[in-house]
Amino acid sequence: MTEEGADQVSPIRKLTREVAGKIAAGEVIERPGSVVKELVENALDASANRIVCSLQEGGKRLIRIEDDGSGIPAGELPLAVENFSTSKIADAGDINHVRTLGFRGEALASICAVSNLTIRSRATDEEVGREMEWSGGTNLKDSPCVRNPGTEVEVRDLFFNIPARRKFLSSGASELRRITSIIQSFALAFPDVHLQLIENTRDILSYPAASPAERVGVVFGTDLSKQLKQFDKRFGRLHLHGFVSTPDVTRSNRSLQFLFVNHRYVKDRMLIHAIHQAYRSLIPGDRFPLVALFLEVPADEIDVNVHPAKAEVRFTTPGEMFSAVQRALRRALLAHSPVPSLNTQVRWTPPPPRRFGATADEGGWSDHRTPGE
Ligand code: ADP
Ligand code: MG
Repeated sequence: MTEEGADQVSPIRKLTREVAGKIAAGEVIERPGSVVKELVENALDASANRIVCSLQEGGKRLIRIEDDGSGIPAGELPLAVENFSTSKIADAGDINHVRTLGFRGEALASICAVSNLTIRSRATDEEVGREMEWSGGTNLKDSPCVRNPGTEVEVRDLFFNIPARRKFLSSGASELRRITSIIQSFALAFPDVHLQLIENTRDILSYPAASPAERVGVVFGTDLSKQLKQFDKRFGRLHLHGFVSTPDVTRSNRSLQFLFVNHRYVKDRMLIHAIHQAYRSLIPGDRFPLVALFLEVPADEIDVNVHPAKAEVRFTTPGEMFSAVQRALRRALLAHSPVPSLNTQVRWTPPPPRRFGATADEGGWSDHRTPGE
């Protein structure tokens, strides 16, 4: 808007690449935790066995993610930080059966636009690596580098060029708490990957490769995990497995509820409600069970492209998922303790379609009296 005032109509202009890049980045990268999530996803997509995340000031000053994955071929490194550049899908149809965690080709471009970024990578089948450095999207350095196969991405001074964004970041301690929880969720979903979180020189988390049950033990802590019940159920094409706490072990919040759809950590109101229903009448309404729930569904039965940070998915048959989760958990609880069977089954009513930027979905639930399970 010009100085003359609000009634002065400005002509439509194409924003410069720099401004457009900053705006787009804001959708994907909200805080240090978003950077960590995107970079760990990239490492996992590159089949890394070991991922080390190092931070300074809760990631506000520095985030460094090192992996021993397949690496970025030297000739492709400049392209990796361009918008919509990905090796994971080739056409629109591929979005319907994505098996990787990433697919939009936007994360590195977004991070590059709003930080001081260095990438050092060497592809497994190449002799030398390549190192490139950018500041706010401008390339500053490009040279060969000697390193083991794999990738190291270093993100310094996130949002240094968007002061309004930087100002809204929380304290280092609170950004660190968020990142800790993100790494814990990856740790549950990928027990066979060695994951480490370091702040300054302090080891915050260290998870050597383990079995799913051992991994749950270290993430939830030995005492709590002894109270968890493992379950594994199949309903046709749906496979549900994981760990739930007995009704006598609960929390006052949902911080120990981790939900995954095809190994993707999601926040999903429908799944949360299905869990709540499984524990109905077993725990007080203001208590929350501990849950690590893994739902495996055919890739073409979910839409993963519905949320800027990929934190939500849309199911083609939400009602079926809802009842499967409710039943699997209830059976797991029944198998281990004298839990009354359900005589009221709650069905999921799908929410209206959502768009990016819309507020939380307005799905509804309704009680339907049905015979017990
Ligand atoms: P996306 O993950 O959606 O493809 P990104 O912007 O996160 O998009 O990454 C762009 C591309 O860079 C990826 O498709 C991949 O080919 C490459 N890449 C990024 N990080 C890594 C990594 N740690 N190891 C190997 N390749 C990577
Ligand atoms: Mg990615």
